[in-house]
Amino acid sequence: MKKQTIVTLDLEGVLVPEIWIAFAEKTGIAELRRTTRDEPDYDVLMKGRLDILDQHGLKLKDIQEVIGTLSPMEGAKDFLDELRSLTQVIILSDTFEEFAQPLMRQLGWPTIFCHYLETDADGRIANYKLRQPNQKQRAVEAFKSLNYHLIAAGDSFNDTTMLGEAHKGFLFHSPASIQAQFPQFTPFEQYEDLLAAIKAEL
Ligand SMILES: [Mg+2]
Repeated sequence: MKKQTIVTLDLEGVLVPEIWIAFAEKTGIAELRRTTRDEPDYDVLMKGRLDILDQHGLKLKDIQEVIGTLSPMEGAKDFLDELRSLTQVIILSDTFEEFAQPLMRQLGWPTIFCHYLETDADGRIANYKLRQPNQKQRAVEAFKSLNYHLIAAGDSFNDTTMLGEAHKGFLFHSPASIQAQFPQFTPFEQYEDLLAAIKAEL
């Protein structure tokens, strides 16, 4: 019997570089290199990042301009295009719509579910809004309730509940520590290998 499938993909580390780290490198603001590995409390981390942007007088428009100079990973667009010709693909990311936009343009506007930013009248980022906690897993759960077969791929800890919820989960570009902790998810490094593994599930 034919399976109707949705592939859910993480964004950062899988299709595009880590946005905050790349942004820190482009702007030379070293404090923005901190990630959830350095500060496990996401709210503390994000509030700190927004404070740093304020201190440097960076508005959303400035940040989007810098993000617009970043590129998807080599081969990411071709991988995504081929995958989207075969099945439905939805990107599930913990980034914000406003940050993702310049990269989504370069990827041909795939569907993405993520969070959003609040800006004030001057275009300064005033706050961030998480649409839903653990949204990656929740989305996979919801798609399963629509009788889809779910395949998921991601690189890091915040993807593992999504991978576990899917019928089939793969790690991609993941650190050795994650691979060791989650041996149930086959790890891949090359788009062609991930694509072949996904095709075998379709
Ligand atoms: Mg990631």
